[in-house]
Amino acid sequence: MTQVTHWIDGAFSKEKSERSGDIYNPATGQITGNVDFADISTVDHAVQVATRAFNEWRHSSLTKRVQVLFAFRELVNNNKEKIAALITAEHGKVLSDAAGEVTRGLEVVEFACGIPHLLKGGFSEEVSTGVDVYSIRQPLGPVAIISPFNFPAMVPMWFFPIAIACGNSVIVKPSEKDPSAATFMAELWKEAGLPDGVFNVVHGDKVAVDALLTHPGIKSISFVGSTPIARYVYETGTKSGKRVQALGGAKNHMVVLPDADLNLAADAAINAGFGSAGERCMAISALVAVEPIADELISKITERMAKIKTGDGTQGADMGPLVTLVHRDKVASHVAAGEKEGATLVVDGRNVKVDGGGFWLGPTLFDNVTSKMSIYKEEIFGPVLSVIRVKSYDEALQLVNSHPYGNGTAIFTNDGGAGRRFQNEVEVGMVGINVAIPVPMSYYSFGGWKNSLFGDSHAHGTEGVQFFTRGKVITSRWLDPSHGGINLGFPQNT
Ligand code: NAD
Repeated sequence: MTQVTHWIDGAFSKEKSERSGDIYNPATGQITGNVDFADISTVDHAVQVATRAFNEWRHSSLTKRVQVLFAFRELVNNNKEKIAALITAEHGKVLSDAAGEVTRGLEVVEFACGIPHLLKGGFSEEVSTGVDVYSIRQPLGPVAIISPFNFPAMVPMWFFPIAIACGNSVIVKPSEKDPSAATFMAELWKEAGLPDGVFNVVHGDKVAVDALLTHPGIKSISFVGSTPIARYVYETGTKSGKRVQALGGAKNHMVVLPDADLNLAADAAINAGFGSAGERCMAISALVAVEPIADELISKITERMAKIKTGDGTQGADMGPLVTLVHRDKVASHVAAGEKEGATLVVDGRNVKVDGGGFWLGPTLFDNVTSKMSIYKEEIFGPVLSVIRVKSYDEALQLVNSHPYGNGTAIFTNDGGAGRRFQNEVEVGMVGINVAIPVPMSYYSFGGWKNSLFGDSHAHGTEGVQFFTRGKVITSRWLDPSHGGINLGFPQNT
């Protein structure tokens, strides 16, 4: 049994926690560890430590910061398999997926290594006679990152490399379901030479989150999770005067036009619908088939679904379990609701047979889903793909744009003009053209629209640098040395 505890001031916390939670291996259903839950005083202690560390770290040179970032990059890269194993053991996703998430996180570290360039300000000489104006960006202070269970390494890495590179100190509150990856990365930061207290991890639940949201020492909140909590975090954090970016849930549509390459579309639907058991905020959940291709596309998808091996992520399976039994049962109840509401259940993942007591639910496919059904309206966050048949591009677009979520979307077509029109007209933050999971690279910014994002700042890229810094503009007048004052040997003005 592992005991996971807080990492504060460069060491594991010795404070005793009154409350804690179980950690499961979702592939066996067994409890494998226990995680301490922070109370208000632990959070307060972490904020005090982070405040002290900030006052030193903010004065560290850009050269020093970059050296630490490069060292951290090497350490994460060298420990990729270990981090992936920690993720699979607590989340359940297959090892290749887990390693892929670490790689995506590393790309943000690599982006942050360019911080000297990213933090350069502007300079205007002689805006008035003898007057110059220039801009600088300064760090905020201790910042908090609150992350979801589905990417326990990558989502915190969307934020902390840039926050630290900009000169802030950080407190991460990972998901209590899979807390080990974040804690291990804290140890790597120490090894990389980051001063104690600049990177801290407090574990816990709502108590820890509320303490961070209202603590006067915390200057910003970066949250990723479900929409109701994202809304709550945004409202509570901003009410406390903090800068908040809160990324919420999703219901991503993939539109397939009649001229699309249906093999490409079917492969993409499989990867995007069932990869990581559908527990991705960029997973495709609604497949909008523009007739007459629905029958052929469904037949290609079902052929491929039959080959997906559901099982333990450490044993070469294609798709792992769901994260908890509660979540597995919730997804199964969505499947039952879809059947009851009249959708055609083409493949029923509830029948999947896997040895052991894990939280299993196989790939599931619905046809003839309508916009009135709960399986269409709600985020399921499991391996359930719904096909909605429409007659035209306009009907497909109207469906996507009417949905309250706006995280990611994709269009499959061989018509460049159709793709171009879709990218212009669709009301979604991240758009793929013949790419089902259009996750932006680290030097662009990640984030959705509508109920998928509260606040106006997306994650990483230049928006990340903006979020973790405050702008300052200086207007300066330095009199020419010839103008009086101490005689430095310049000819004196009269
Ligand atoms: P969640 O909202 O349950 O939890 C997210 C974080 O909030 C966790 O750290 C959790 O401890 C904390 N939390 C939970 N309940 C809380 C409460 N009542 N008050 C305060 N804090 C609370 O989300 P999850 O189940 O861990 O993650 C899945 C969700 O995250 C899905 O909805 C998914 O779409 C979303 N997600 C979104 C993105 C994105 O980029 N938009 C990325 C990944 C995941």
